[in-house]
Amino acid sequence: MLTFQEFSKFCESVERISSTLEKTAKISGFIKEIDDEDDLYNTILFLMGRVHPEWSEKDVGIGIGLIYEALRVSTGVEKRIIENLVREKGDFGLSAEEVVRKKKQTSLFSEELTVKKVREVLDEISSLTGEGSQKRKIILLSELYISCTPIEARYLTRLILKEMRLGVGEGIVRDAIARAFGIDAEIVERAYMVTNDYGKVAVTARKGGKDALLSLKITPHIPVKMMLAQVAENVEEAVKEIKHLGVEWKFDGSRVQIHYANGKVSIFSRRLENVTNALPDIVEEVKKNVKEGVILDGEVIAVKDGKPMPFQHVLRRFRRKHEVSKMAEKIPLIVYFYDIIYDEGSVIDLPLEERRKRLISAVSKNEVLKIAEQVVTRDPDEIARIFNSAIEAGHEGVMLKNLDSKYIPGKRGKNWLKLKATMETLDLVVVGGEWGEGKRSNLISSYELACLDEEGNLLKVGKVATGFTDEDLEELTELFKSEIEVEEGKKVVFHPKYVFEVAYQEIQRSPKYESGYALRFPRFVRLRDDKSVEEADTIERVARLYEMQFRSKGT
Ligand code: AMP
Repeated sequence: MLTFQEFSKFCESVERISSTLEKTAKISGFIKEIDDEDDLYNTILFLMGRVHPEWSEKDVGIGIGLIYEALRVSTGVEKRIIENLVREKGDFGLSAEEVVRKKKQTSLFSEELTVKKVREVLDEISSLTGEGSQKRKIILLSELYISCTPIEARYLTRLILKEMRLGVGEGIVRDAIARAFGIDAEIVERAYMVTNDYGKVAVTARKGGKDALLSLKITPHIPVKMMLAQVAENVEEAVKEIKHLGVEWKFDGSRVQIHYANGKVSIFSRRLENVTNALPDIVEEVKKNVKEGVILDGEVIAVKDGKPMPFQHVLRRFRRKHEVSKMAEKIPLIVYFYDIIYDEGSVIDLPLEERRKRLISAVSKNEVLKIAEQVVTRDPDEIARIFNSAIEAGHEGVMLKNLDSKYIPGKRGKNWLKLKATMETLDLVVVGGEWGEGKRSNLISSYELACLDEEGNLLKVGKVATGFTDEDLEELTELFKSEIEVEEGKKVVFHPKYVFEVAYQEIQRSPKYESGYALRFPRFVRLRDDKSVEEADTIERVARLYEMQFRSKGT
């Protein structure tokens, strides 16, 4: 049985390696030696900073506040002291390690933790809801901390915060599994696209090798990675690229994958979060108007008087946990379906043209459930006309799709090209903020932004304080309150979790921020709740946009 100490020591050794190849080799060697299936499953997920697979509804639901409290209860160290440590070290894991180290000198007895035990307790914590659940979570977590050695405390804390800082992403895990069990990386990846669970992929690979992975099938109620689009440079290029072309509006909404099978409806967002409970109106419509035994792909849009409302309204619906039906009345949604992934069996290998026929026969269209219109044409004038009608209707542009192509989960390919009206915005990670003044003193009214470098470090590029409505600020304050790591006067530091889309007048060179750049007149466009921190823009993109300004100015 794998102890949590062994696992933590292993994490530390991986953390020290910077080369991707070496990390892969190290992980493949480690997982190859794990005999027990549960240990293998947990190791894979934990290395990626996940307790549950990405798509699962389960969540440990432990914020920073609870960690401070559990550490205080288990070690007697005051929150203020832990906060200072976090400020000094810039990392919760290292701070928890230090706190436990201080305390360990005086405590003698503790039970040895295993990876299984940690899983068991975190599962129990995930299942707690309602009154008294916070207290119980603190008790369970402090019991874990009491049994932790310092290094275990580092990785337990990081696991709970879903940020292991090992530099182990999906690519490394895929290659490590491939190497450990002697299977082609492509087959491993395909298995992941249909199961969305590298833990399950590893266990299956170990048990039945390549054949077992190939026989993994798309299963209703387990989400499939969504097919993604590439940017089309212009219509002429797209027409050259795609011979059999279908043109659709690119709707300004949010992606949904809707499963209807065995009498049950499940709805997943672009990040494959389960948002079923927030959308009871859509669930009802699907049950009434969609054939059972299907998985559909589409876009959900908020509408008012026939016009799409800004995309944040859809996300507001997605996030809603209480008074869901009241919100459904306030922000009515409609769905435009444009693809089908499963029709009493996987249909991803059929050409889009065939899939569309199946989609049309699976849905009885009405006011809420619609099928995206598609025009088959390669005439640039006709495409321009469709593009303009989409913009006029308040949408983003058009999607140009290869009608002969398969549905390729999780891939950004040339079979779907997007053509958008150009306005270069940046998607940046929110890393800090400041409480407002006067009547806004109870609102966090400015937000610090950062881009990513190659290693995933966050580099600040500016601060945004305009473009928010009062309603935006209220909602954002509510959202960000639970992400505060450190508070100093009016200033706050956030756990990096959310991404803002921002517009700006110009990018400047600046020594003020570690990125070397600063945004001039940044303006909040929207919360990109559908993007994870890893999907934010990189320093390379900022640099490229900076260079482009010169070109367009001719200086
Ligand atoms: P982007 O988010 O800019 O990469 O654009 C791709 C997204 O456009 C997809 O993930 C969908 O959410 C959205 N989209 C809107 N309309 C369509 C459509 N007709 N076909 C495919 N994707 C669409």
